[in-house]
Formats: sequence, C-alpha cells, structure tokens
Amino acid sequence: MTGWREIADGVLIRRYAELDLTVGLVVGAEQALVVDTRGDHVQGAELAAAVRQVTPLPWQIAITHGHFDHCFGTAAFLPAPVWAHERCALHLRRTAEDQRAEWIEHYRHEAPETAEALRTTTVISPDRLVGDRAELDLGGRTARLLHLGPGHTDHDLVVAAGDVVFAGDLVEQGAPPDFSDARPEHWPSTLDNLLDLRPSVVVPGHGDPVGPDFVRSQRAEIAAAVELCRAGPPEGDLLARSPFPEATTRAVLRSMNVGRFPDIH
Ligand SMILES: [Zn+2]
Repeated sequence: MTGWREIADGVLIRRYAELDLTVGLVVGAEQALVVDTRGDHVQGAELAAAVRQVTPLPWQIAITHGHFDHCFGTAAFLPAPVWAHERCALHLRRTAEDQRAEWIEHYRHEAPETAEALRTTTVISPDRLVGDRAELDLGGRTARLLHLGPGHTDHDLVVAAGDVVFAGDLVEQGAPPDFSDARPEHWPSTLDNLLDLRPSVVVPGHGDPVGPDFVRSQRAEIAAAVELCRAGPPEGDLLARSPFPEATTRAVLRSMNVGRFPDIH
C-alpha cells in the first residue's frame, strides 16, 4: 500500500492507508516536484525519505489545497519552494488551528501518536503563490500548476505533467467527494476545465488513479446533487434521488449556502 508506483515516465504516485491519501512525484532531469506532503511532520518526514529513495535531485513542493492531510507535512521538506494557489495561504492562516484541533480530537483515541504528531507540527505557509497558472521547468520536462476554478475548495491547484493530471480533491475515488469547504455550483465547470486538458490519467487526492470517463461521471453526480439542492433542503424522494449518501447531500446543501458569496469566480 505504501510503495511508489510509476504511472508514466518519471511520474510516480504513493498511496497511504491513512485516509486513502494519494501523493505524487514528478522527476525531471534537474529537479523533482512533490505533490502534497501528507498530514503531519512525522508523515512528512516519511514521505521525504521515500522521495529520497527515488531521486537525489533538489525538490520543489506543490500543495493542491490547504486541508491538513495534503499539506501539514511540508516542514519536513524545507528549505524548498512551496507552491500553492494564492488563496491557500489565506485558508491556512484562517483554518490551520481549527483543522489541527479537529483532527487531534479525531485521532486522540484510535491513534494517539498521530494526535501527538499533529500537535507538534509546524504548519508551513506556501511561499510561491499562484494566481491562475505557473510553469515549473524541472529539466527536460515542465510541470504546469493550474487553478481551473473553485470546486473542492476556493483554491484548488492541479498539477499537469504530460498527460497525467494530479487533481487533488477535485476528484475522489473510493468515496464521495468532500464538500466541507466546497463551492459546489462551480465544481462541475472546474472539472470541465480539467477534462479540457485531455488527461489520460487523473490522480485523485484520495484513491486510485482514474481516467477521464470517471471524472465525467463524478462531474455529473456533483451537478445532479447541486441541482437537487438548488431549491432548498431536499427531503424524502429528492434525497433518495441524490447520487450521494444523505450526509454528503446535506454537505452539498450546506456549502452551497455558505458559499453564496458574490466575489467567487
Ligand atoms: Zn481536501
């Protein structure tokens, strides 16, 4: 479960049992790009050591979004450039301590050592902020960092390396998408933009790599849930027609109302 898998030339993924997290690595001739850093300083150090078994090259870090499981491991990679969407830094400033407290509580009994690692983690703010796009020359290959619109959060950043796209939690395999900080009404068009990149492989933030057909069907599910929730709280039959379990549908509804700010683009 925790080994590397090379899914294209110099493009690797690594999956973890914990939260079914999937992280990535793109290796050029001169530099490597690590996509997401896991959820605390111990997990980050494990990943950094694992990257070092693949390549001795200097690394840069790309954070897909500011949820703890994708970025609280960053300190283990410093010094290094840390790329993220510009609103990711703001999200971390606003929410990092709440995320820490919530997940310490979550792990307190079942995994006290993880709770302790979270408690002692230094949360690193990204220092290379991306508006819509950036290109990283890794030597003989380019990685593109793209903000394709809001979706799972208001600051999702995808990493395109050849025809592989690391989607962060814009795509989730093996579980319904997470809507806790989502912009559900924008999510389908953001996935259209992702599909316009014509990827042959899409790496989700959780689960197994998928193809464009999977993304298309997840896009349709999200659009259907948004439609159901547009008229207000779906009950009874409406709830039963949702493609998602009840708790997820209710999260869609909640985030549609929280997310109704005029300045979202
Ligand atoms: Zn997330």
